[in-house]
Amino acid sequence: MILFRQVEKHYGNFHVLKDINLQIEQGEVVVVVGPSGSGKSTMLRCINRLETITSGELTVNNITVNDKKTEINKLRRDIGMVFQHFNLYPHKKVIDNITLAPIKVLGLTKQEAEKTAMYYLEKVGIGEKADQYPAQLSGGQQQRVAIARGLAMKPQVMLFDEPTSALDPEMVGEVLDVMKTLANEGMTMVVVTHEMGFAREVADRVVFMDKGHIIEEATPAEFFSNPREERARLFLNRVL
Ligand code: ADP
Ligand code: MG
Repeated sequence: MILFRQVEKHYGNFHVLKDINLQIEQGEVVVVVGPSGSGKSTMLRCINRLETITSGELTVNNITVNDKKTEINKLRRDIGMVFQHFNLYPHKKVIDNITLAPIKVLGLTKQEAEKTAMYYLEKVGIGEKADQYPAQLSGGQQQRVAIARGLAMKPQVMLFDEPTSALDPEMVGEVLDVMKTLANEGMTMVVVTHEMGFAREVADRVVFMDKGHIIEEATPAEFFSNPREERARLFLNRVL
């Protein structure tokens, strides 16, 4: 479903992604870990073209992401993204945060969009918050709204960039639980996170990055018990 082949990216003179080769199948949950600054967010953001690659090949569902002919809105419609800072519209009610894109982009009627929005709000466990404003919700609840907003577009892939890093510790679990449910239901997911428990339990594959390279790719069982690469060992010693 997602294929990186010899992908390079530079920010000006800075070489941020180096020879990235990665294949993600439909239904797979891939967790990306690695030190701060190693290029995890950049790699994720290339998938929906929030960043452009410098060279190599990147396809989503056989569509070349950086082809001039690729309609960026069509590409992004299929790719949901959840950020560290929930990025909800503060002046819109929860329900309107979720219905906005389905109405505008998918052409749903307000009624259809609200029905879908309620379905996903119930799914993430906060149906009763539909008429509140984001500021009236806890961080964990806001992040669950952000996930519901992504799901309401019925994407084929969900990208998560440190979705629990901005949360108070007691709210991390409720967000991870929602993600775990999605994973169990077969959603294709790429998750950047420092939550090693989640990686161990939910990932089909762990990808370890350092200084712009993918250093190691392994099942969680292999990666956590017996990492092959020294840099992965050092990283695990620091975070576990
Ligand atoms: P990670 O998510 O692993 O912490 P990032 O992908 O955010 O890493 O960043 C990788 C490197 O690229 C960092 O050194 C960061 O400072 C740099 N970087 C990120 N975004 C930009 C940008 N827009 N312009 C220049 N450098 C950037
Ligand atoms: Mg990052």
